[in-house]
Amino acid sequence: MNLGRFPRIKLGHMNTPIEFLPRLTEKIGKAEIWIKRDDCTGLSTGGNKTRKLEFLMAEAINQGSDLILTQGATQSNHVRQTSAAAAKLGLDCHVLLEDRTGIETINYKLNGNVLLNSLHGATSEHRPSGIDMDQELINVSEKFISKGRKTYVIPGGGSNPTGALGYVNCAQEIVYQSSEMGKPFDFIVHATGSAGTQAGLVTGLKLLNSGIPLLGIGVRASKIDQEEKVFNLAKLTSERISKIQLVKREDVIANCDFVGPGYGLPDTSTLDAIRLFAELEGILLDPVYSGKGAAGLIQLLKDDFFSSCKRILFVHTGGAVALSGYLESFT
Ligand SMILES: *Cc1c(COP(=O)(O)O)cnc(C)c1O
Repeated sequence: MNLGRFPRIKLGHMNTPIEFLPRLTEKIGKAEIWIKRDDCTGLSTGGNKTRKLEFLMAEAINQGSDLILTQGATQSNHVRQTSAAAAKLGLDCHVLLEDRTGIETINYKLNGNVLLNSLHGATSEHRPSGIDMDQELINVSEKFISKGRKTYVIPGGGSNPTGALGYVNCAQEIVYQSSEMGKPFDFIVHATGSAGTQAGLVTGLKLLNSGIPLLGIGVRASKIDQEEKVFNLAKLTSERISKIQLVKREDVIANCDFVGPGYGLPDTSTLDAIRLFAELEGILLDPVYSGKGAAGLIQLLKDDFFSSCKRILFVHTGGAVALSGYLESFT
């Protein structure tokens, strides 16, 4: 599989490390828990969107764009990494923030990712929850085009077949590192939202014929909706890379039992998982994505879902910048 023919611009610190978590493994007492540090991709603290943005921003530059537009929830990590990428490349950035969670604290509205967006020089507008944000983004783009701007529109989460190439690349990286270390993984687990991460990983793992199963822990949609979303994007992504459709519907597995009260709303299991990783391993998860992914990982280990596995890899997708936006959840 050759991703070299797709335009890409270097934004992050790759390869990210894969590390063993001995104290967490001992505490849970089941399979070995390993972690892929995609929280360390480097761009304005890092996270999974940086890999997608390496392909998306290259496309924006090739099209001669001067204004990057994107959208997300108020504490979106994707918006923060996009505004950082735009700053690094000398492009303007305008973002739409959806009041998706109903959280009204000052910290949620101004701290964490929101603070960093403004430090990156991005301008922003707010929208109420429940509207079609990607459509709204296109409407806003048309206004800028009529004023003479050359816009490049990145959908929520950077999840389209271009962005997903970043996680096809990550699958390659994992398979390579795993064989270099002599540590085969029996399952890969991560938090899944706008679907680009899982779609890219499942496509890459399949194209490499790795045989490693993948599980996405959902943070918003129901299992059926999430799996459909990932599968549809995986089909489009694999069509971009090869003529053969390798990803099958049954390769796409999501568990959406750890969403809690809703998107961006942590429950006790999310907060417990965040505390456990921090206290045992000094690793910071987040209340929206990786905390829920880790809560799922821990519960499924305890329930012996992974009983036939010796070694599990948890992909840490980042997000700890949002912790200060959620100060009140921890006090
Ligand atoms: C966006 C995000 C995810 C989910 O990735 P998708 O590609 O949107 O499914 C997981 N973790 C963190 C920290 C994120 O910001």
